[in-house]
Order: sequence, then structure tokens, then C-alpha cells
Amino acid sequence: MYLYNSATHKKEEFKTHTPGHVEMYTCGPTVYHFAHIGNLRSYLMEDVLEKYLRYAGYDVNRVMNITDVGHLTSDADEGEDKMLKGAKREHKSVMEIAQFYTDAFFSDCKKLNIKRPDVVQPATGLIDDYIRIVSTLIEKGFAYFAGGNVYFDTSKLSRYYIFNDHNEEDLAVGVREGVEEDTNKKNKNDFVLWFTKSKFEDQALKWESPWGVGYPGWHIECSGISMKYNGEYLDLHCGGVDNAFPHHTNEIAQSESYLGHAWCPHWCHVAHLNTNDGKMSKSKGEFLTVSLLEEKGFDPLVYRFFCLQSHYRKALVFSWENLENAQGAFNKLIAKIAALKPSVDTVDEAAFSALKEKFMTALSNDLNTSLAVTALYDVLKYQTNDATKLAVLADFDQVLGLDLIEKADAARKKAAAASASGGEFNIVSESGEKDEAVEKLILARRDAKKAKDFAKADAIRDELKTMGVEVTDIAGGAKWRRI
Ligand code: AMP
Ligand code: ZN
Repeated sequence: MYLYNSATHKKEEFKTHTPGHVEMYTCGPTVYHFAHIGNLRSYLMEDVLEKYLRYAGYDVNRVMNITDVGHLTSDADEGEDKMLKGAKREHKSVMEIAQFYTDAFFSDCKKLNIKRPDVVQPATGLIDDYIRIVSTLIEKGFAYFAGGNVYFDTSKLSRYYIFNDHNEEDLAVGVREGVEEDTNKKNKNDFVLWFTKSKFEDQALKWESPWGVGYPGWHIECSGISMKYNGEYLDLHCGGVDNAFPHHTNEIAQSESYLGHAWCPHWCHVAHLNTNDGKMSKSKGEFLTVSLLEEKGFDPLVYRFFCLQSHYRKALVFSWENLENAQGAFNKLIAKIAALKPSVDTVDEAAFSALKEKFMTALSNDLNTSLAVTALYDVLKYQTNDATKLAVLADFDQVLGLDLIEKADAARKKAAAASASGGEFNIVSESGEKDEAVEKLILARRDAKKAKDFAKADAIRDELKTMGVEVTDIAGGAKWRRI
């Protein structure tokens, strides 16, 4: 497989320390709020990468942290503690917040068919490991104690700017306007390994350490967690592009200085999902979550399809219109698959291999998911029997994770039920009651959907909601209930 490596700035053949085996690490979410769909774009593309590696025959050990301590509102060591901010907002304890948003994150992942990593480790669970690493870094002369905190000394490194796409401005992270410079630092890029002198007196979680009661910096958790579960040699490290600096740069600094050898040769960064007015953020405007997509009537897998249509290294613009377009294309694709006839015909092995080769060529070229999606249409057009086409689509879906076969089966059943009822559209209410006004709106919504006017269909759904009515699509009709 050829994969772009942000550490060398080129597309390279992906090689592993142990042939056939991949040790993979992903920076996990900071669990102080729901993940937005931008965060989830990163996890979704990393999921496709993991699934493709497995599909291509690798055995993968994937590790992810859950950041429940140490991440300040600035990615440098400044600002408020994100977890404490979440706890204050909701009048709950930090651990309650962490548990709630960790569960919410995995529930969103499930809806998007993002597989749970083999190892998931909350940062607060490995404090002794970070203390051991920090002690060794001090012993080796890579870290110093100043003003109550332990800092990594970046002047001790032969090379710090691994992902050299930073400029002087980026490097001055600690000296942004309005942020007081930390005068304990010997060099402006030095970063905190262990805090005891928190700027927030009410810092919620603290542990005993040789340097006093305190808490770990954000970067050390990923080094500690990866070294524990991936071992000393990591093959592939992933994250969103904003993680490259300072987070990943600092992870490399600590890990290599601690280990005394190179740590991770291959770095993969997913570009951001943006809105028309810029970068997506949790504090800005409409907070785009998986639940919001569902409320607007979108199947979360339509968002997965939307992401797969673009390359992971290109910034992607989200808009409701773009998502509606993806929904239209996805529905058409499912309808085409539903038109294939499941049968006991034998699978045409030659056709299977030819199609599979095309699919693998796309993905093994820097994970070109948009070409992999095109490969689905190639299957539909290919001169072979339906049994082969369905077998190939099921095979590809192990990587794409779009539930193609299940959705086509459901569409086939729905069509069969509709034709059994003479193509009638049945409206049933959960309580058995009849309501002419509600039924009229449900029929108008059906017509809007038929005409692919999804905005209108959504508006009608919202209108029903304001009337206290929830409508769900069922085979051959719709069901409604009062809420
Ligand atoms: P956080 O929960 O803030 O630690 O971020 C979780 C992951 O989402 C990290 O890998 C980030 O790099 C990534 N990320 C943050 N914002 C975006 C975005 N707008 N688009 C894609 N990925 C993002
Ligand atoms: Zn990390």
C-alpha cells in the first residue's frame, strides 16, 4: 500500500516493523462535549484505513486514548482545562462528564459504522506510566523542573520540527495575544510534561508525583498509552491535521527521547471538515452532531458516504445541500443494488477478481475512497450475473461500511410490501387513532420525498413535530405517534 506520510511529506510504500502486522495509534476524543461531525470525519477515515489494512491481509492492533485530563483550551499549555469547563457547564463532576461523553462518542461511532479500536484507554488510567516516563526524561536530561512544573527541553533535540509545515507564527503558540508567556520555559516550544502549578486552583483531578500533587500534560498521555499497548515500535499514527503541531511533534519528542530510538515512521493526518464560514468548532453556531443529522432526517451512513466521496487529505466543505446531494446519490445506489436479484447462481470468480483488483488499486493508492466509491458503480455495470455483483459489493462493504447489502434487502422488502398492498401508501398511528390533518401532511411529505425535495420533506416533518407528532417510515407507508 502507498500512503502519504506527513513526516516525510511524500506518498510512500507503507512498511511495518513486523511484516504483516500493523501497530496503529489514533488520538482519541477530548470527552468534554459531544464530538462534532468534523471530529468524526477524522475517525471515519481512520476507520476506513484500518479496515482496508485488514482487508489487504494485515493483522492490526489499533489503540486509542480517551482524553479525560490535561487538554487545555489551547493546544499549547495555556487556557482553561477543557474537562473542567465541561463539568462546570453541566454542573457535574469531571468523571461524570468523561463517562457521559465517552459513551456518546462510541454511540455516534456505532451509528457511523466506525469500529471500536482494539484498545481504548482513558488517560486517567495510566498516571503511573506517565510519571515513570517523565522521571526517565529528567534522568536523561531531556526535561527540567521549573516553577512547580516539569517541562520538556526542546533544545536537547537534534530535530524538533518533524512536520515542517509550521512557520514562526505557529511556533510562538505560547505567546499568543492575551496569553501570558510562561516564564518558566527555557525555550518557547518547551512544553509541560507534568503540572503541579495549575493556573486553575480548582483543578479537579490531581495525583501524587515526585514533583508534587498535580496532573499530566496532554501530550504525554498519547506517548504513554501507545508505548504500553503498541510497544516500542509504532507503525502508523493517525489524527486530524490540527494534531500535527504541537501535539504530534511533542509526542515524537518525548517518545524518542525516552526510548532512545526512532518511534513511529508513518504519520497520517486527516484534513478538516469545514463549513462555508470556516473551520468547524464546538463553540461556533449550530453545533453539528450526529444527533442533529438524525433530527434533520438523515441516516448517519449518508454522512459516511459523503465523507467517502472525498479524499482524506483534502479539506471538505459541509453544507446541508451537499449532504442532501449525497443522500440522493446514496439512495440511488441502494435502489440499483436492490434491483439486483439475489440468487443461488455461482459467483463468477474471474469477474470477482477483476473488480476487486480495481477496488484495491484505488485504496492502496493513498486511500482513494472516492475511486473506491466509483468502483461500486463499476460493479453494477459489469457484465456478470447478479450473484457475483452482490458478492463483490458485500466484499467491498467490509471496508466501506455502508451497509449496502442490508439496505438493499430492506428496500427490496419495502418494495415487495408496497406492491403487495397494491402500491398503496399505508398510514398507521401507534395508538390506532385517525387524524385527517396529520395524514394529509404525511402524504405531502411522501410526495416531496418522491420528488426528491428533501428540504420540503424535512420542513413537513418539522411541522408535524411542532404539532407533537413524530413520523417514522415503515415498509409500504408511514407510522406516526404523539410525543
Ligand atoms: P478533540 O476531541 O478536540 O481532541 O479532537 C478529536 C479529533 O478530531 C482530533 O483527531 C482532531 O484533530 C480532529 N478534528 C478536530 N476538528 C476537526 C475538523 N473540523 N475536521 C476533522 N477533524 C477534526
Ligand atoms: Zn494524541
